Amino acid sequence: MIICKTKSEIRALMTQWRQEGQTIGAVPTMGALHEGHLSLIDVAARECDRVVASVFVNPLQFAPHEDFDAYPRDLESDGAMLSGRGCQALFAPERVSLFPADFSTNISVAGVGENHCAIARPHFFDGVATIVAKLLLILRPDVAVFGEKDFQQLAVIRRMVRDLDVDVRILGGPTVREADGLAMSSRNQYLSADERAIAPALFRTIRQAGERVSAPGAKWSEIGAWATGEILAAGFTSVDYVDFVDAATLEMIDQAGPEGRILTAARLGETRLIDNIAVAPSQVD
Ligand code: AMP
Repeated sequence: MIICKTKSEIRALMTQWRQEGQTIGAVPTMGALHEGHLSLIDVAARECDRVVASVFVNPLQFAPHEDFDAYPRDLESDGAMLSGRGCQALFAPERVSLFPADFSTNISVAGVGENHCAIARPHFFDGVATIVAKLLLILRPDVAVFGEKDFQQLAVIRRMVRDLDVDVRILGGPTVREADGLAMSSRNQYLSADERAIAPALFRTIRQAGERVSAPGAKWSEIGAWATGEILAAGFTSVDYVDFVDAATLEMIDQAGPEGRILTAARLGETRLIDNIAVAPSQVD
């Protein structure tokens, strides 16, 4: 695997691949890689001749009180995992090369970038849209793969790419979970043993909520309140939201339609966990 730490190196490599007629799949990450990230490498490898991953802890998507400094970083282990999975290139730039001190541009996606996670993290999706736009312009991949684990993020990226006519196909990869259902996340490392035992309640609850909302005549206003109570009763510290949305628009809905999705974020001690599930059309009355 070729590791490029500068924009000029990675651009030269991508140009070479394109000139050789190879299609390119990109997988942007913030590192601290796990099986969830690696599953996206597999998706990219199925779709394209060459796969490039990026590892960059994006300062724009952290608020001053959030965990930018504490975010786990281990480029050596990330590199070994990527190369073991057949990824052919890793772009791992320095902060200053992407964000010089006088960096002034912000990409903000209205609509799908509002509500849900944007309420507790108002600058988060601007930070995501801006870094992803930059990475897509640097790498110019044919395909870029993102996890459904971050469902609102995926919707923001799809909308940004459509609105700005970026010539790339965005693919979503399904959420990879631990055996007990907890969605894999780099932030799971923050959990104490006690918190780790509580954490699967988030997925368990939204799955049950999905079954309840699929019943004829069910109303989300009641089920959402029930789900919040369940998550707190399991031992979570607080619930940011449990929302039932139309999967395409992320607008709140009260009754199951053909494309429902339950999105949630909750705090366990200092750690904020997110998850989401599809409410399958077959469950809909
Ligand atoms: P991150 O490093 O957390 O910014 O995530 C990088 C990419 O991996 C994003 O597209 C995430 O949605 C995706 N991802 C993170 N966790 C998972 C998971 N458990 N399953 C699938 N994709 C994931």
